[in-house]
Amino acid sequence: MGNITLEKVQKKFGETEVIPPLDLAIEDGEFVVFVGPSGCGKSTLLRLIAGLEDVSSGEIRIDGKPATDLPPAKRGLAMVFQSYALYPHMSVRKNIAFPLKMAGLNAEEQNKRVERAAAVLNLTDYLDRRPGQLSGGQRQRVAIGRSIVREPAAFLFDEPLSNLDAALRVGMRLEITELHERLKTTMIYVTHDQVEAMTMADKIVVLRAGHVEQVGSPLELYRNPRNLFVAGFIGSPK
Ligand code: ADP
Ligand code: MG
Repeated sequence: MGNITLEKVQKKFGETEVIPPLDLAIEDGEFVVFVGPSGCGKSTLLRLIAGLEDVSSGEIRIDGKPATDLPPAKRGLAMVFQSYALYPHMSVRKNIAFPLKMAGLNAEEQNKRVERAAAVLNLTDYLDRRPGQLSGGQRQRVAIGRSIVREPAAFLFDEPLSNLDAALRVGMRLEITELHERLKTTMIYVTHDQVEAMTMADKIVVLRAGHVEQVGSPLELYRNPRNLFVAGFIGSPK
């Protein structure tokens, strides 16, 4: 599960059309990257999918079911934010368990899921620490852990690595790719970084001024960019 379909999804802010009507299909388990220059609408598109913004017109389906009018909490998606937004006074265990507690799961089920997520993220030895006692990369993993425990249909990432230094970025990139291989859950990943797009994606969606310029695998876009804009963005020789 984890397929998402957009049909003629349009977004206006006041009179300004930021996303002209747009169709997009995301398949179960796919790692999809939205790439494009600053201001092209990547975050807006992700927020429409997450339900953090309302569409102006069009339909969103998640796992075949209409989701256009569902609030974010009912969409079964997990948005992983750039800022860690962890609770500094709580242990890693409590931070990760927090959404489960809010959802009313019993302590045993909370613990089971927290330990499973910690194992996947190599955080087992850190469960009793507080966020302040962790590195930046570990804190990012705790934030991801807090999403994993909810067993979402898809993870949505909006430039999650842009606060990290270059060395840490490479490591986290690999970690997110590995996480996708382990969980096989759909991931939508927004970036303006061509290297991230080319190395992480099953499918790249190149956005330009709110419309889809081209969709394809990294290899397809590299070999066959539709135009100079795509070529420039993908770094191919056309
Ligand atoms: P990106 O994430 O690709 O940098 P955004 O989705 O943040 O782009 O923004 C796309 C366009 O929509 C930009 O022109 C931005 O100024 C505009 N925009 C985004 N959010 C709002 C908002 N809440 N109100 C008005 N305009 C907005
Ligand atoms: Mg953005």
